Amino acid sequence: MTLQGTSIIGSRRGQGTDSAGKSINPTTNEALEPDYAAASSEEVELAVSLADAAFNTYRTTSGAKKAGLLRAIAENIEASIEELVARMPLETGLPEMRVRGEAGRTCGQLRMFANLVEEGSWVDARIDRAQPDRAPLPKVDTRSMLRPLGPVVVFAASNFPLAFSTAGGDTASALAAGCPVIVKAHSSHSGTAEIVGLAIQKAVADCCLPEGVFSLVYGGGRTVGQALVKHPAIKAVGFTGSYGGGRALMDLAAARPEPIPVYAEMSAINPVVILPEIAAEKGEALAEGLFGSLTLGVGQFCTNPGLVFIHADAAGQITAKLTELVSSSSSAAMLNAGICQAYGSGLDQLKNHPQVQMLAEGSCGDAANQAVPTAFQTTAADFLAAGDLTEEVFGPATLIVTYTSDDELTGLFAALGGQLTASVFGTDSELAQQGELAKLMEDRAGRLVFNGFPTGVEVCASMVHGGPFPATSDGRSSSVGTMAIYRFSRAVCYQDCPDALLPDELKDSNPAGIKRSEV
Ligand code: NAP
Repeated sequence: MTLQGTSIIGSRRGQGTDSAGKSINPTTNEALEPDYAAASSEEVELAVSLADAAFNTYRTTSGAKKAGLLRAIAENIEASIEELVARMPLETGLPEMRVRGEAGRTCGQLRMFANLVEEGSWVDARIDRAQPDRAPLPKVDTRSMLRPLGPVVVFAASNFPLAFSTAGGDTASALAAGCPVIVKAHSSHSGTAEIVGLAIQKAVADCCLPEGVFSLVYGGGRTVGQALVKHPAIKAVGFTGSYGGGRALMDLAAARPEPIPVYAEMSAINPVVILPEIAAEKGEALAEGLFGSLTLGVGQFCTNPGLVFIHADAAGQITAKLTELVSSSSSAAMLNAGICQAYGSGLDQLKNHPQVQMLAEGSCGDAANQAVPTAFQTTAADFLAAGDLTEEVFGPATLIVTYTSDDELTGLFAALGGQLTASVFGTDSELAQQGELAKLMEDRAGRLVFNGFPTGVEVCASMVHGGPFPATSDGRSSSVGTMAIYRFSRAVCYQDCPDALLPDELKDSNPAGIKRSEV
């Protein structure tokens, strides 16, 4: 495939006037062809008006037909896998195995939503039939179900070029809900976005759906991205990235004449607690697990364990082994120069912090944009006194905090903002006594992990990949798993509505054959 370097607007291609730049190979800093054209304001307007028009049809498209679209997207991505394998490593520095693995996860996610909407019960249909004879007042007939919000803008993530990008979880869940999607491509992997965008464009056409169901636009976040978020026809936003970017979009959306929800996944440091008995029993294995988790994907996972609380009496074995592993590790290329610079300044802050000691760092290779695995240490008292050690350092770094009492551990959790995950390691007897710790973890995080590290997010019905602010903008939401669909829908109640006007899911005869709550 020859990459064209222009936006995909419904069934058409954009022209653009301004450059959105070329993707850069992070391992060499070499610019990759083609130069991408930023969507013009007319093209942004066209993408939104096509999405708005498409919503009129797509909002009532059957679950079976939406499932057909999601499966067709998955098939088209699979058909493009060799093109992705050729392009994505150049743009991201990620290895071929990761491309194939992430493509598999992306397609699995699309098919999961296909199954969900084909079965149809996700709409939470509730029927309270009329009781004309009820005394003292007759009861009306009320029926409710979840309906799609309208056109959604998705900001693709830098760190998951497939699974959280053009056809990633936000796009899949919004399309499943019945919402047209406009993706704002991430400039780090424009070619990967184009390959996947074309796979979606073809699926929309093959499924005979309105062209505006999907568009992909290139351009700056502050220009093209903000124009989309401000547009009155846009009804929700999905975002994965920095706290600054997510917060700016939240504020922008809240300041609109009609505020809209922004589902932003932002920053997390994912605390891990290691209780003393298990630390004494399995210190070396825990250090190996921690090292594997913190260096996975060059530490560029939102679930990276950036903070580890260990009882001071039992920390020796773990810190010694972690020091050995980190010292003998090597650097690897990060996703782009900006992320690498941000990691470098995060490391500098920790290295120069008066209350933090560096435990170990790996060796740095010659290639561009290298991230060196690094481990730091401090005490709970110093951590709490410092007050500035809770920010995400995006990359393969972690801070070990030794504590001496349950009160100190409680204080550490109290100092944290919202997190995607909180993990605890303990023996069976230790964990059984951790009711209070479990409550602290629940207050702070969307997913509690027992005797496991937080990296690796299962895509399934019960998964929660969300958490209180600032991990996400709305702690009631998940961006992974079937729960993600609820972000792009809202409950509508139909009171005394004629059967002919009711959605199939609420009609007396239940032609959709879904599970309903009926009284
Ligand atoms: P980012 O800078 O937040 O950018 C993400 C997307 O949002 C890009 O498309 C960007 O557009 C857009 N954007 C950023 N600020 C904006 C604003 N004020 N208004 C409108 N759009 C805006 O994130 P990134 O490029 O992926 O990575 C930068 C840092 O984010 C990393 O170093 C890391 O600290 C953090 N990060 C965290 C996670 C996580 O899961 N916790 C994941 C990825 C990144 P442009 O095209 O103009 O850049």
